[in-house]
Amino acid sequence: MLKRLIVILVFFVSALSAAAEPTDSTFIPGRSYFGRNHYIEYIAGNSPYILSAPHDGFLTPPEIPDRTGNITSGHDSNVQDLIRKIGETIFAREGRYPHIIICHLERIKLDANREIIEATQGNPFAIQAWKEWHSFIDTAAQQVQKSFGKGFYIDLHGFSSHPVQRLEIGYLLSGSTLSLSDSELNKPAYGNSSSIRTMIPISGMTFSQLLRGPRSLGSFFENRGYPAVPSEKQPNAGSSAYFSGDYNTYRHGSAGGGPISGVQIECNMIGVRDSENARKNFADVFAEIVKNYTSQNLFVTAVFDQSAVPLQPSLLQNYPNPFNPTTNFGFRVSSLEFVSLRIFDVLGREVATLVNEVRQAGTYTVRWDASSQPSGVYFYQMRAGGFVETRKLVLTK
Ligand SMILES: [Zn+2]
Repeated sequence: MLKRLIVILVFFVSALSAAAEPTDSTFIPGRSYFGRNHYIEYIAGNSPYILSAPHDGFLTPPEIPDRTGNITSGHDSNVQDLIRKIGETIFAREGRYPHIIICHLERIKLDANREIIEATQGNPFAIQAWKEWHSFIDTAAQQVQKSFGKGFYIDLHGFSSHPVQRLEIGYLLSGSTLSLSDSELNKPAYGNSSSIRTMIPISGMTFSQLLRGPRSLGSFFENRGYPAVPSEKQPNAGSSAYFSGDYNTYRHGSAGGGPISGVQIECNMIGVRDSENARKNFADVFAEIVKNYTSQNLFVTAVFDQSAVPLQPSLLQNYPNPFNPTTNFGFRVSSLEFVSLRIFDVLGREVATLVNEVRQAGTYTVRWDASSQPSGVYFYQMRAGGFVETRKLVLTK
């Protein structure tokens, strides 16, 4: 009996390790691909956006027993339809498909937004589906990074237990953390533990501005008639329940570094998910907002929107930092100026000149490949007219 069990176990383990590791060259944008038994669906994309819907599946295969104990089950109703509508709308607007990952298993079988133990309770078929789920998101992230250098991930939900009808945007900050003052939130520990960590320096804003200022994701939704927290209007959740984001946001956002920042969005029911028409309208607004939000805060390479933020020359913290071997420097120029951006070692010797020319007003990003330099601390200095700023960077090989 024991021998037979071992044989079965070995079979499961080898079946798991043999699970196809998809390579991006096999994926055609807009087409659906599936893991084993169609439990996980990946609609391949070619835009810098990755969307996932972990909690609106309907499959209840007998090979996976219901999870038991203190677990959450039930549907994020209509989120699967909503995410498909969002995908179609983004394609119609931009001519590119977002990457979309959908879990078709009922949440009682697999919770695709929890770590592996709670998610699967050890069932090998659930484990395989869980691995496929993350592998598809990783594949999407690699494709995004290859094509755009950075990207934005949204884990889309829609539970119905919170009475206040508003979008809850989760950055991995608890409701009580959001109740802190802006100056407290701007201490590095909070930004560094958030799912938009690497987006903060790129945005050129403080963390609290990026969370709930006029150019925050929540404020974009508020301005289009969808109440959202956090935002300029609703800087924190008050005494009401609030979902701050969970495993997917943690694993696939930029809390641990990396070029993909992300959020969890918990969509309320009324006016967002409850009717075909509501979902269509929301999808339209969603597609527009993701584009505007990321082009103003994440893909900041073109001429700056002067109406949004007063232009002052500035030098952003490089990203990533520490780095190996390449990193990016964002800076702003406020008027036609001669601009220089140079790198120095700790002894003050210039080791690279990245910019040394006249530049028009605008926001720029330049890249440095430090392959030929030894590990260590360096400094980079920007000069533009009377403006001088120096910052530190760390090369770790
Ligand atoms: Zn959910």
